[in-house]
Amino acid sequence: MTSGRRPDSMADSDWDSKTIDTVRKYAMQNTLEYDGAGQSSSVLGRLLGERADLRPRAKDLKSLVEEEVEAANQMAKEYGLDAVRESLAATNPEALQRQKQQKRVGLKPLPNAIEGKVILRFAPNPNGPLTIGHSRGVVINSEFAKMYSGKVVLRYDDTDTRVKPPLPEAYGWIEEEYEWIAGRPADIIIRASERMPIYLEYAKQMLESGFGYVCRCSAGEFKDLRDNSQPCPCRGKNTENNLSDWQSMNDGSIEEGGAVVRVKTDLELPNPALRDWPALRIQHSPHPMVGDLYKVWPLLDFQSAIEDHLQGVTHIVRGKDLMDSTRKQTLLYNHFGWEYPEPLYWGRVKVHEFGGFSTSGMKVDIADGKFEGWDDPRLPTISALKRRGFESKAIRDFWLDLGLTQKDISISMQTIESFNSSVIDSVCERRTFVRNPRNMSLNMDEIEHPDELQIARHPHGEIEGVREWTISDEFVIEDRDYSEKLRLKDFADVLIKENQAIVNSLQRSDKRTIVHWLPINQSRMARLTTPLGTEFRIDEGLIENIDLVEGEILQLERVGFAKIEKVPENGPVELLFLHG
Ligand SMILES: [Zn+2]
Repeated sequence: MTSGRRPDSMADSDWDSKTIDTVRKYAMQNTLEYDGAGQSSSVLGRLLGERADLRPRAKDLKSLVEEEVEAANQMAKEYGLDAVRESLAATNPEALQRQKQQKRVGLKPLPNAIEGKVILRFAPNPNGPLTIGHSRGVVINSEFAKMYSGKVVLRYDDTDTRVKPPLPEAYGWIEEEYEWIAGRPADIIIRASERMPIYLEYAKQMLESGFGYVCRCSAGEFKDLRDNSQPCPCRGKNTENNLSDWQSMNDGSIEEGGAVVRVKTDLELPNPALRDWPALRIQHSPHPMVGDLYKVWPLLDFQSAIEDHLQGVTHIVRGKDLMDSTRKQTLLYNHFGWEYPEPLYWGRVKVHEFGGFSTSGMKVDIADGKFEGWDDPRLPTISALKRRGFESKAIRDFWLDLGLTQKDISISMQTIESFNSSVIDSVCERRTFVRNPRNMSLNMDEIEHPDELQIARHPHGEIEGVREWTISDEFVIEDRDYSEKLRLKDFADVLIKENQAIVNSLQRSDKRTIVHWLPINQSRMARLTTPLGTEFRIDEGLIENIDLVEGEILQLERVGFAKIEKVPENGPVELLFLHG
């Protein structure tokens, strides 16, 4: 197979066998990477990376590279990719390794990961729908799961009934949004609020085993002692007293703030926040989903730690601001004799345009009528991005490209927009939208001209077909484009006198400005809404009236991408601006 794969056409070539072998290696590697469609350009790049001595002869190498790539592609076509893989394994096994690594786009391998055994989790508080910030957790966790044929647990950390209580509708929204972002549903879905008996049981076990205690000190008293590495009086209580206080916490006879359950730690720990940290507290306000069944609720560090263990989570990806959570939870795991998952950290990412938004803040503003709903195009929610026409692939590409960096980063929406452009550019049809239109008349007396124009639905032909325009005497341009000499895009050079355009050449005769324009008979009214910070800008104008379908995204010539939100029988077409 290896030797006789093709006649030795290199007999009359002046390349030495070492060079030929190296080119062949990269050609086969490339064919494997691109499923039988290797590209000579990337082979050449890689080859010159290894063999700097060949750089001066790069031009001459081209035909050798092309020949080898063609041969490798041909081999894949005739005998299958496995034959190429076998052949490469026989001569250059290390090249196969590299091919494998390069297939992982963006994310580095997880430490201590076993194929098929990786379990990750994405744990939002369902106090609102997902935002662009949450999408990072969905993308990174689902991508790691994909890399290792593992699973993602979507876990609702909904045990806060007071400060950030859950929003009942949000559970369903989040499941859908998760699936939309990841491209597949979460593997396991659980709600902490439905698993309260489990957490309370573990708390009791902690008290019985002596590594937890009920503390009835005030927060201030406890802090003063803790900061000086001193135990509070409750720490020495026996099991019987602890269990009796536990009973009083649960039956409601102790008021909110009257007691917490603490995890015993070394009081000399350098970070005071870790010393005897609180695991459960009293909340008498009813939970929106389970009502007033429980008086004692776990704090996040405790609930999350127990659940990660029960779900068999192997890797936790979290913000580096949560390193203390890792430390606290590791102390708890040591008490229970469990093994802590592998933690991985990322830095904070701030999106300029949305710096000031929080889920709780948005909730208030929506209730006050400042925004129309969670999918208001001015908000950083997934439902808003989806409504505007962002593709989930762009969101995935963006986060994977950024990777798991621990650096704090500030980005602009433009970065995400450019990822979105590259996803949608080739699949969006072009249309003309003339903002603030100025009526013009067309004078074609001087020149022979067609009655109809055929304009591509997409200039590079990714979408086939044309838009047919009948040329009429009346047309519009944007008022601000008005000038003495213009070229009407895809049509003619015109000379403008008052509001009359005299056609003087169909060919482009000089460098005059090209403007978009629209025959009146081809148009209908439209309104383009652009979210601008907390405001909207509205542009009224005329849109080309060809195949306007609600929900479709168009690229408006010289304006940008926009989604058709509404095509009413009467009245203006509603357009929502996506990005430039
Ligand atoms: Zn105490």
